Amino acid sequence: MIVTRFAPSPTGRLHRGHALSALTGWRLAQAQGGRFCVRIEDIDIARCRPEHEAAIFADLAWLGIGWETPVMRQSERGPAYAAALATLQALGVVYPCRCSRADIAAAATAPHGPAGPVYPGTCRRTPVTEAAGVAWRIDVAAALARTGPLDWHDAAAGPVAADPAILGDFVVARRDLGVAYALAVVVDDAAQGVTDVVRGADLFDATHGQRLLQALLGLPVPRYHHHPLLVGADGKRLAKRDGAETLASLRAGGMTAARLIAEIDAEALRHRGADLPWPRPHTGTMLAP
Ligand code: GLU
Repeated sequence: MIVTRFAPSPTGRLHRGHALSALTGWRLAQAQGGRFCVRIEDIDIARCRPEHEAAIFADLAWLGIGWETPVMRQSERGPAYAAALATLQALGVVYPCRCSRADIAAAATAPHGPAGPVYPGTCRRTPVTEAAGVAWRIDVAAALARTGPLDWHDAAAGPVAADPAILGDFVVARRDLGVAYALAVVVDDAAQGVTDVVRGADLFDATHGQRLLQALLGLPVPRYHHHPLLVGADGKRLAKRDGAETLASLRAGGMTAARLIAEIDAEALRHRGADLPWPRPHTGTMLAP
């Protein structure tokens, strides 16, 4: 049975791009008699607000989307994340790291990946002995040596060879939270039985790292549907932090759900035009179909 999910972080109000993700996942499940789950991604609890969470549910209901209850929330999943980290530690594919962002930015050798400078491997080369107050990073080369080549399937891009090395030795557990997005998301997708992940193309590259973690943890691999990022009137992608027009503000301004859905569908179709491949990954090798 198909199981899709919408996994917002309650750090701001939802915008049209979120509506596209949620609608696409919900429709996919509906069309095949499957399940649609919501997961509140609130591990970074200091940045999350209860009013944003309440607004997420109000927005989904307004769009006519129904979801399974109880809703999973990451703030309640600490033991599952700790167990996954312990598995990675037992495999010897993670190492403690005490570098700050400033240390990493200052490292002259830091190569650049899709999301900025990649970790130069300082604490891999000079192991950290204290176990408290450290982050944990995956040793991507050691992990790949264990798993061998991996791939994953994207509905639009087709088969993709996983290339987690573009991310560098990414963080699987933040020092302040004990877990990081990449680890939480694969543990939770598996726990919710998610077969199809629908999300924006901004997370296309993160999938390379998530695929590696799935292989190491023996988790099932969902199919991925990365959709285009909607752009605002200024041509820039919508983002919560830029105060992109929210669903709530559109609603307050008299927009109906039916009209918004029609607009989003039309916009998503335009992105599939020949001049704008859909989605457009930054990196990663496409396998021949
Ligand atoms: N929580 C992430 C966000 O709000 C989405 C994670 C995902 O869909 O994998 O951007």
